[in-house]
Order: sequence, then structure tokens, then C-alpha cells
Amino acid sequence: MKKENHFKRILLSLMAAGLIVTSCDKAEDVIEEEEQQQSETPADISVLADKFYSDDVTVQVTDDELIITTKDLPDHKSVYYSQNDPLYEFYQGQDFRQNPGQIGEQNIVLTVPRYPEEASNHQSPGLGPMGVAINSVVFFNQEAAPGDDIFEELYTFDQYDGHPAGDQYHYHIEPSWLTELKGSDAFLGVLLDGFPVYGPMEDQVEVTNDDLDDYHGHFGVTADFPDGIYHYHITVDYPWINGDGYYGTPGTKTQ
Ligand SMILES: [Zn+2]
Ligand SMILES: [Zn+2]
Repeated sequence: MKKENHFKRILLSLMAAGLIVTSCDKAEDVIEEEEQQQSETPADISVLADKFYSDDVTVQVTDDELIITTKDLPDHKSVYYSQNDPLYEFYQGQDFRQNPGQIGEQNIVLTVPRYPEEASNHQSPGLGPMGVAINSVVFFNQEAAPGDDIFEELYTFDQYDGHPAGDQYHYHIEPSWLTELKGSDAFLGVLLDGFPVYGPMEDQVEVTNDDLDDYHGHFGVTADFPDGIYHYHITVDYPWINGDGYYGTPGTKTQ
């Protein structure tokens, strides 16, 4: 009798130990699965290549990168085209002050990651192109050149909200030509880190700075990424396109 009880107790404790081992295994599996879901397989942004509609921008898709080559020539009218250009149009908006620049053809190459991922250290785009819109025009961030004030420069924006620095045309704010053409919730371009830029609306609601993180984006589903992707939004308010740096690791640019 005593022996039998002893045996039973050993058996029970073995079973209990077995259960604990089994449940530990299960817990580890669940944790691993959750970690995998959280880290996500990076989205493949090659689906965006065809959205760059202008003849002045080409997108070459490689295994790991999108190589975007742009002439940076707006397909809309501008007072900054030379007066003999068919796209020249006089403009005299309220308090408009034309700067001395004139739109000139560029040769800018942005090589961006095809599978963008969050960077551990968020680099500032600095001055110059930080991305490119679907019509070939480059995006600049919210900073003016040293000595200039971006809020003063707003008065130098043309009828479609861009202006040149020298001969390099660019947008700091919402390109109204593109949001009118494609919709306020449409994909408008990419930044150098490969993450897409969308307009100021989402699900028929205006996106504000409060909806976005420090880099001016958030994770979510978009029309182009049904499984979700981190993406920037252009807002009506400063800092407009980007905030405190790239969310992801930027690729390279030559100009
Ligand atoms: Zn500028
Ligand atoms: Zn969004």
C-alpha cells in the first residue's frame, strides 16, 4: 500500500513536471509567434513603382532597392518656368513674392530600400531632396536654407505650392496639384527611407499632427498596403511632410 502510494506520488509529480515542461514550450512558441507578428515582414514597396506617372521620373526595381531617377520637372503650370516654356503661367497670389530662381532640368537619383524598416537612430534629412513625388518633383523638409525663414518663404510658393532653390524645384508642403489630381488620401511619393507619403486625408477624416508620431507618420493599412505599412502623411500644419527625421534608414542620393 505504502509502496503503491509512493509510486503514484512519483508518477503524479512526473506528470506535473511534464505538464510544466509542455506549458513552458507552449508559452515560448506563443511569445515567438507574437514577436514575429510585431516585427512584421517588411512591406515590399515595389507595388508603388507604377504610380510614378510622369515621363520625367523612372523607377527601376531591383532585389533590394528602388532606383528613382528624376528630372524634377513639374507637370503643372508654374510662374517659375521660363516664359517661353509651354508650362509657364503668370501668377500673382496674395502677398506672392517671386524668388529669383527658375525651374531647370535636374538629374537626381534616389536609391531607396525596397523593404523599408525602422531605423534605430532617426537621421535628419537635412537640406535638399528628402524624397520624390509621383510627378517627378522632389520633396524638401520644413527647413529653409541657412539665414532664411521657411514661414517667409511660404510667400514665394507658386500657384501649385512649390518653388525653386536656384533651378531645383521642390515642395515643402502639400502639392495641391497632386491631391486634386489623385485625391487627398492618395499615395503621393516616397521619402529616401522607402516609406510612402500620403495626402492629408484618411478614411475621409483629415489627419493632423496629433495623429502622427515625431517623424510625421504612423503604421496602418493603406489602399496600396492592405497588410499595413508605416507611412507619412502631409498635414496642413507645420512641419507638413516630415517631422524629426526619417523613420527608416535612408538610402542614398546623387544630384
Ligand atoms: Zn524651398
Ligand atoms: Zn495613415
